[in-house]
Amino acid sequence: MLVSAKEMLQKAKAGQYAVGQFNINNLEWTKAILLTAQEMNAPVILGVSEGAGKYMGGYKTVVGMVNGLLEGLNITVPVALHLDHGSYEGALACVEAGFSSIMFDGSHYPIEENIEKTKELVALAEQKGLSLEAEVGAIGGEEDGVVGSGECADPMECKAIAELGVTMLAAGIGNIHGKYPENWPGLSFETLAAVQEQTGSMPLVLHGGTGIPADMIQKAISLGVSKINVNTECQLAFAAATRQYIEEGKDLQGKGFDPRKLLAPGVEAIKATVKEKMELFGCVNKA
Ligand SMILES: [Zn+2]
Repeated sequence: MLVSAKEMLQKAKAGQYAVGQFNINNLEWTKAILLTAQEMNAPVILGVSEGAGKYMGGYKTVVGMVNGLLEGLNITVPVALHLDHGSYEGALACVEAGFSSIMFDGSHYPIEENIEKTKELVALAEQKGLSLEAEVGAIGGEEDGVVGSGECADPMECKAIAELGVTMLAAGIGNIHGKYPENWPGLSFETLAAVQEQTGSMPLVLHGGTGIPADMIQKAISLGVSKINVNTECQLAFAAATRQYIEEGKDLQGKGFDPRKLLAPGVEAIKATVKEKMELFGCVNKA
């Protein structure tokens, strides 16, 4: 059964480790992540962007697939199904469809409007027993077609949003979605420390986990980050393994064209990536 992300993140914050959010794109992705979480005895958050939801045939399809896999694969670790960077309308649709967690990304609105809309969704999430993530300070890189450079959130704005009663808060600290550019100055730990000071026990979320060096990840966790989002890294791993399979001509040998064979190396590559991240985040055996 899907659970809200509240308890797993509060435990992570108290225990100074982070839970991974891994974005899903299809059946293979979802299976790979769930099986790895079970093997590692780790809590996990499955992230679904609005675009990925549409790609998979709608939020209800996603909920049906994930619930089916939890049962069919005997998954017993805590799993949250979370809307990633949701719009206000997307958040409502996911609540309706049966997601256990939602993110409302109001970071592109003026702060007053972000507060207003977040407040409404906090009430709805509480009523339904779901967890809610809010965002302050746009995260750089490409976020649903909008390319930003990685802002730093205003700690006082973070405090205002945290006090609305959200479950977890994503604050921009110079992090970027996708691959990091050569000249990236790194995470702003000064901003993170100031946000943590203003928001106390609120679990903080680090988006754009692909390519942040391990020592920066560990420092971020020590400064209050309890959820780290990983998306691009699984995509790169899947693509590289699939490329190798094709380039070695394996699809042309015997029944190598069978999708269950053709997609298998990519699935193994996602599993290896998820495992590596869970070890880095410290959430192994925390289910
Ligand atoms: Zn993000």
